[in-house]
Amino acid sequence: MTSVIAMLDPRAARYRVECLKLGKTYPPDVAALREVSLAAAAGELVFITGPSGAGKSTLLKLIGRRELPDQGVVMLDGRDPARCKGAELQALRRRIGVAYQDFKLLPRLSAAANVALALEVAYRPGDFIRRRVGELLTRLELTGKEQRPAADLSLGEQQRLAIARAAANHPDLLLADEPTGNLDAAAGRLVLELFRELAAGGTTIIAATHDEKLYGGGEHRILHLDAGILTEDPHVRAA
Ligand code: ADP
Repeated sequence: MTSVIAMLDPRAARYRVECLKLGKTYPPDVAALREVSLAAAAGELVFITGPSGAGKSTLLKLIGRRELPDQGVVMLDGRDPARCKGAELQALRRRIGVAYQDFKLLPRLSAAANVALALEVAYRPGDFIRRRVGELLTRLELTGKEQRPAADLSLGEQQRLAIARAAANHPDLLLADEPTGNLDAAAGRLVLELFRELAAGGTTIIAATHDEKLYGGGEHRILHLDAGILTEDPHVRAA
């Protein structure tokens, strides 16, 4: 199938994530997103800012196919995830890392086991898993907490753990919802450094955030969402 967006924009083939005129209304009549279009290339770091209730989480849910749009289309590497089922959908999900706003950690499992699980389900070999878990927990300053149950960690530690888990498989796409909501400035910088390194390695990152310290400086793109309307993204030509 030819991408709708590729027909509208010949540059679209290079975009890993494309959203065209996404609309989402929650019952009874909450218009969470209105005609939202954006595109992000492989290795791009994009921040979505905007007030609470602006639609940021909803946009991430549609891109990650945790919800389906009422209008418009999402394309991931030129394919519409809404049309993927079964094994194809599972394969697509394995290429997406998600750092949820409420973490969704397994509370009784240790910090290390929470990250390792993400690698085990991707059939990574044991020594690779040990190395990658150690590397991520060290750089997110969770050293010494490896064997503690996730539920015993502070909120800031749980948040960093959720980011480590989302990043573990070097995903093609990383979606992060308020990734520094519980972090101080120093921990926020660790997260930003990790995002930059992942992006340099080809991971496309879309992060929803209020945190000006996170999106404030640097080369990345910043888009603004307010009342479901995204400030125009110059990467997508108006259709
Ligand atoms: P943000 O992440 O920017 O805070 P959200 O995407 O969470 O915004 O929410 C956008 C709007 O949609 C808000 O008005 C919110 O109350 C509403 N909303 C979000 N999820 C649901 C839901 N499952 N059911 C009904 N309304 C929802």
